Amino acid sequence: MEEKTLHLRETARASLPASGLVRLIIHLVVWLPTAGVVGAVALAWSRGVDAFALVLLAAMYILTVMGVELGLHRLVSHRAFKAHPVVEAILVILGSMAAQGGALYWASTHRRHHAFSDRPGDPHSPHLHGAGRRGRLAGMAHAHMGWLFAPVEADWLRFVPDLVKDSRLFTLHRLYFVWLLLGLSGPALLGLLITGSWWGALEGFLWGGLGRIFLVHHAVWGVNSLCHIFGSRPFATREQSRNLFWLALPSLGGAWHNNHHAFPRTADNRLRWWQFDFCGLVVRLLERAGLARDVQYADEAAFRAAGKNKDTPDMVMEG
Ligand SMILES: [Zn+2]
Ligand SMILES: [Zn+2]
Repeated sequence: MEEKTLHLRETARASLPASGLVRLIIHLVVWLPTAGVVGAVALAWSRGVDAFALVLLAAMYILTVMGVELGLHRLVSHRAFKAHPVVEAILVILGSMAAQGGALYWASTHRRHHAFSDRPGDPHSPHLHGAGRRGRLAGMAHAHMGWLFAPVEADWLRFVPDLVKDSRLFTLHRLYFVWLLLGLSGPALLGLLITGSWWGALEGFLWGGLGRIFLVHHAVWGVNSLCHIFGSRPFATREQSRNLFWLALPSLGGAWHNNHHAFPRTADNRLRWWQFDFCGLVVRLLERAGLARDVQYADEAAFRAAGKNKDTPDMVMEG
């Protein structure tokens, strides 16, 4: 087993591009979607926008935020449920189309966040940048986007040893750039097929591809930045996580972030009838359809009885 693990580690490391290339990719991933939004709005201003482009934007947005929140986050990072292999592949591919890194990168960064939440070592805490208004603003900027440009070492054997050994998941991870390109070329191709024109292909690319990635980025990053600063804290967890109701809809349930830190392995963040969690609803439907099993749900009574946050590194690394 030891030898196999070492081999897998070498394979994993060999799959990481050189650091200069990584930096270039991060800049492209952040600024190309921003340029895409500017281009889409400018073209819409001069030529108008077709309804199909807005439908593509909405559909691709919902699918890829779900891919991140339900796939990369709840399924892969927290193992909150077990999915049928086809469902797992679809969710990971959709999550990869969000341009937030391959599944193992995403999960190792996120498990590190849970292991060090709002303490040194947390990759995107807004609380480690000094006191006063300046420190708070710097912290918020770091937690939202700045952290991407200061990547910490992945250390996969520490944070995702279970995922490195999962050959199916590892293959999906290695094909990350294929999924990313599919998420950009797919909407362009649909635009071409629907309108029969190159203008339609460009609209599909800008609205369903780049513009959609821009919106997905800020919704997901908003959970990292805003949900550790603003909102309510029904659970006295050891970090500063919060439930931010207005972000719950665009994040498809991810913004019930205090609920999540209190119960990191739950597949459904909805703990009160009014807390709408789209991804929680989807996982319950998958469970009913026999496509998800071993679905984890929150045990509030146990949490209160323990009187402390059980979100420990050991817990998030359970296989
Ligand atoms: Zn958090
Ligand atoms: Zn989490």
